[in-house]
Amino acid sequence: TDQSKIRNFSIIAHIDHGKSTLSDRLIEKCDAVEAREMESQLLDNMDLERERGITIKARAVKLNYAAADGQIYELNLIDTPGHVDFNYEVSRSLAACEGAVLVVDAAQGIEAQTLANTYLALEHDLEIRPVINKIDLPAADPQRVKKEVEDIIGLEAQDAPEISAKLGVNIDAVLEDIVTHVPPPKGDPAAPLKALVFDSQYDAYRGVIVYFRVMEGTLRMGMGVKMMASGAKYEVLECGHLLPLGMEPCKELIAGEVGYFTASIKNVKDTQVGDTVTGTENPAAQPLPGYRPAKAMVYCGIYTEDGSEYPDLRDALEKLQLNDASLSFEPESSAALGFGFRCGFLGMLHMEIIQERIEREFDLDLITTLPSVIYEITKTDGTVVLVDNPHNYPDPALILEAKEPYAKVSIISPPDYVGNIMPMCQERRAEFKDMQYLDTNLVELHYSMPLNEIIYDFFDTLKARTKGYASLDYELDKYLPSDLVKVDMLLNGDGVDALSFIAHRDKAYPRARRLCEKLKDNIPRQLFEVPVQAAIGGKIIARETVKAMRKDVLAKCYGGDITRKKKLLEKQKEGKKKMRSLGSVQIPTEAFMAVLKLD
Ligand code: GDP
Ligand code: MG
Repeated sequence: TDQSKIRNFSIIAHIDHGKSTLSDRLIEKCDAVEAREMESQLLDNMDLERERGITIKARAVKLNYAAADGQIYELNLIDTPGHVDFNYEVSRSLAACEGAVLVVDAAQGIEAQTLANTYLALEHDLEIRPVINKIDLPAADPQRVKKEVEDIIGLEAQDAPEISAKLGVNIDAVLEDIVTHVPPPKGDPAAPLKALVFDSQYDAYRGVIVYFRVMEGTLRMGMGVKMMASGAKYEVLECGHLLPLGMEPCKELIAGEVGYFTASIKNVKDTQVGDTVTGTENPAAQPLPGYRPAKAMVYCGIYTEDGSEYPDLRDALEKLQLNDASLSFEPESSAALGFGFRCGFLGMLHMEIIQERIEREFDLDLITTLPSVIYEITKTDGTVVLVDNPHNYPDPALILEAKEPYAKVSIISPPDYVGNIMPMCQERRAEFKDMQYLDTNLVELHYSMPLNEIIYDFFDTLKARTKGYASLDYELDKYLPSDLVKVDMLLNGDGVDALSFIAHRDKAYPRARRLCEKLKDNIPRQLFEVPVQAAIGGKIIARETVKAMRKDVLAKCYGGDITRKKKLLEKQKEGKKKMRSLGSVQIPTEAFMAVLKLD
């Protein structure tokens, strides 16, 4: 391969501006896929991804493009995940590119992720090529959007291709723009090997398939390789290029090329995103910059509704982890829920995706406990403990200082909604940093906000209060001291471990009251009166009462209809199976889940 004929690029965009649709069109145009095999949104190939309209795992494809200059170019399109939870993966994918196509919706103009992704691309010194999409829409105003791109981002945009990815209009202009303006990769094919891992995937037959970009040197079939961060060593069994519908083995990949290799690797943990692959014979002295081990930010307990399915849950988590180095889990047990796992996730979306996959792909019904961030507690004896589970919260008497994680938050919105946004940030203990007009109809607000306040319902509330116009981006920043308390929930005087939570003192009271109300509303009456209480330390801070039951379940039947009676009894039996004993109180699993549901 001739380096000067290679172009490595990503497509970046705000969600729904047309990134996936444009990828499909580029693949089609390059005839990489026969029309009959073309499945819409090829790169987003998990069902769940398609349903949610997001890209969960980064992927790459090689396209052969016959350009107007008569030359054939090797275009490597590296797809990036489209959610803040996966920002690190995005950064590694961008590090594998020289250019980025910035797709902007001709009707919507610039939105928060447009900017956030542009900043990321600029950090990696990429050549950014704006493309104005959806010109077929009646509300499209390409001139206004081009001006926005120039005024807000400062990119030359007058000659940006105006396209309709949906209708396939002007796709050639995008390809020509890439070939002409994105620089070819550099790197010496004879230097010691340095290849950047930007994704990996577990395959039951071949083991882990590592996706990489060669930055320096050459990766050859049969050579010994070493992962510089994990230290693991392998022999390359197969290497090659990634095509839209499969793989194309080859003998070697030189500096600048993008591809895959397999080496009977059992675990994606040994091939983490961001790691550097080098040769065992002539190793590189230094790894590529920017490696960071995957770090969970949100934790929750996951249990099966049916306790006997615990081994199946373990099996499901192990299988998912084969493909997801950022998912962590360890066994935990709860008096209320039995045996389960404490699981760590990159963020709430990641958590929801994993839960949904376990339920769908492994056919298990789950109960999950309230999500928690990691708190940093300094004890009076000087030791520091990290707490992601209320169960492990130290005795307040032994706590010297408690800290919680804060995130840097950026919100972009039309100015009309600032009056709605500011109070909702204040309610969430956010500290206002600054506000900037990006142009006359777009402001950007910066806040420092506890991560705990973001993970619950911040995003949904923000969307609701701004008619969907505002967008959000955040990244973990630092730990700051906080007045934290652990709240215990008591039923009939017995603590229910699965319901306790850690919160800022100001937030603990309303949340405790709300949980008490929900418990009261969802717990069926028992033979005796059941007090529902919330407590901090020994002090009760909220209380409700579930009144005692008065009537027998059969009393309504007046002895007449025997089939109806039978049905009722069966229903009751059915219900029994799904009852959970919380101390002396029995409650249906469904009621328990209703209480744990966030609102
Ligand atoms: P992504 O989130 O950036 O990957 O966006 P998608 O490619 O999934 O597109 C989001 C929505 O916009 C889908 O319903 C597409 O059909 C639609 N869309 C994409 N390109 C165009 C276009 O050029 N014109 C119109 N009218 N709709 C488009
Ligand atoms: Mg998409």
